[in-house]
Amino acid sequence: MTTIRVGHLYPDYLNIYADRGNIAVLARRAAARGHRLDVTELGMNDAIEPGMHDLYYVGGGQDREQLLVAENLAAKAEPLRDAVLAGGAALLAVCGGYQLLGRGYRGFHGEDMPGVGLLPLETVAGTKRMIGDVLLECELEPGVRHTLAGFENHAGRTRLDPGAEPLGRVVAGFGNDGESGYEGCRLGRAIGTYLHGPLLPRNPWLADWVLAQALAHRTGGEPPELAPLPDALEALAHRVSAARAKARGGRL
Ligand code: GLN
Repeated sequence: MTTIRVGHLYPDYLNIYADRGNIAVLARRAAARGHRLDVTELGMNDAIEPGMHDLYYVGGGQDREQLLVAENLAAKAEPLRDAVLAGGAALLAVCGGYQLLGRGYRGFHGEDMPGVGLLPLETVAGTKRMIGDVLLECELEPGVRHTLAGFENHAGRTRLDPGAEPLGRVVAGFGNDGESGYEGCRLGRAIGTYLHGPLLPRNPWLADWVLAQALAHRTGGEPPELAPLPDALEALAHRVSAARAKARGGRL
């Protein structure tokens, strides 16, 4: 049994659309493989200590909540970048959290929020919100393709730096900015995405990918192959969500 140490950033502020449900999925899927998730809440007064966590998780939030945490988070940019980029910890950031992991976010009312500068991107809010179901095609490992289904609701338009790797190609929905045809960002073991819903219950393959990255950080080895789980309900949720995205995703 391995204990996977999760640092959950600002759960009191960034938890729109029940994004903390992603943690529940990770805990259940870890337990089904005989591992344990040990979740520490990292709030305003908590320091980030590189090496202490195998996975960092940040949920989404409205501009208002983002404004409340942005400076506090940006002040912890260095240890967070050290932990992930140099130390190899995994990271999953959703929507408002995803935006703050880039260099910065300019909110709907022109508020400039500093970012962590961990993901190679910037975000500026537009006038129309991009709302609806999304379907992506992802290839996190060469030759291994999966679809990812979820729900997006954001005013922010995210621009990836040239050469940055998106999380996936948009099959239906808006994605990062409604134009590029890409969604999210992937940098090594770090993933940022606009997909809520929450993200992991209907995309178990991604939950397992994140778990495997966190286990690799914990053990110092390669990401392990995790034993498959039945996932019939998860597959159904994925199908329903993907069909909705194909039917009406990506319309303003
Ligand atoms: N406030 C951000 C935006 O509108 C993020 C919203 C969210 O987390 N759903 O772009």
